[in-house]
Amino acid sequence: MRVLESDITIVGAGLVGSSVAMHLGLNGAKSVMAVDLDLEGVFSSSELNAGGVRATWNNPVNAQISRVSIDYYASVHEDVGFHQKGYFWMFAKEEWDTASATLRANPHLKDARIEYLSATDITRRFDFIDKVDDLGGATFSPLDGLLNANLLKNHFRARARAKGAKFLNRIWVHHVTFMADGTIELDAWQWPDQMDQDELKKILTAKETRGAEPIKIRTGKIVNCSGAWARRFANCMGTDCPSNAVRRQVSVFECKGVDLRPFGMFVDSSGVYFHPEANNILAGYATPDEPAGYNFEYDASFFENCIWPPLYNRSTKF
Ligand SMILES: Cc1cc2nc3c(=O)[nH]c(=O)nc-3n(C[C@H](O)[C@H](O)[C@H](O)COP(=O)(O)OP(=O)(O)OC[C@H]3O[C@@H](n4cnc5c(N)ncnc54)[C@H](O)[C@@H]3O)c2cc1C
Repeated sequence: MRVLESDITIVGAGLVGSSVAMHLGLNGAKSVMAVDLDLEGVFSSSELNAGGVRATWNNPVNAQISRVSIDYYASVHEDVGFHQKGYFWMFAKEEWDTASATLRANPHLKDARIEYLSATDITRRFDFIDKVDDLGGATFSPLDGLLNANLLKNHFRARARAKGAKFLNRIWVHHVTFMADGTIELDAWQWPDQMDQDELKKILTAKETRGAEPIKIRTGKIVNCSGAWARRFANCMGTDCPSNAVRRQVSVFECKGVDLRPFGMFVDSSGVYFHPEANNILAGYATPDEPAGYNFEYDASFFENCIWPPLYNRSTKF
């Protein structure tokens, strides 16, 4: 059986695993290996996300971590397609007082240059947002924005590789043994390079191992960067993790009357968020009753039920 070795093994090489590999390398780690079933990440959150970047959080830790990230993205903005065009967040009348007071009181947002707009200022700022009777106000945070997550992932990987990190494809770790001598042995499956999307989906949603060769990885440390599979991988280590996989959907559509290209992210009071996607619009919404589980199917009624009605209620242009 083939045996691979490394001081540190990162399981999952999405944005988080790739960033961890880069930072370990920058901090002097010599033998770092990141393994993933699909380095391209066709079904990973890191490829399927909306690319929004914001430091405007109520939670102080989120605000601080995101601010450090934003400063980094700004320093490499061309490489990662980061456009600091702001987040425009609309709040319903009943939410506005509490939401704005909480943001104003957050000491970590003091220098975030957040603007607080009344409902009447909203249409003056963005003339296509012309149905505002239900709104109490909005915030505009100019340091936030949008980036290209695929470019960012490849940026992290290139810097990690330059420090010696290896990224191995088509490997799925399914068992972890902590040895008496302190080393860790991982049992994994390895598939040939060529796999179609149906095969990938089967492995990611069920415990499919057809066509795989068993391999072992001997390592000193493991980092669980398996994203929506974090709980599944934690179980392989004999432990648990409080996160669950939950489907999130986005729609990309054309709307000739609205040109969002000069702007960043908009978040409506309904929870629908939207931003320019080339000449189109990308919009998403986290359906609150979405059951936990792996589900990669797009619901044909999502756009008509969840996206279009709130946008229609916000603008005569939609
Ligand atoms: C629709 C949507 C919109 C989003 N929008 C935003 C946004 O606007 N802004 C924002 O900041 N965040 C957004 N997010 C969240 C963000 O995308 C994720 O938090 C982030 O990508 C997570 O990265 P990750 O590396 O942890 O996970 P992933 O990118 O999912 O990577 C995990 C990797 O681990 C691999 N893996 C799992 N288990 C194993 C195993 N046992 N062996 C080998 N490999 C394994 C998988 O193949 C996968 O490639 C969004 C997410 C979604 C789904």
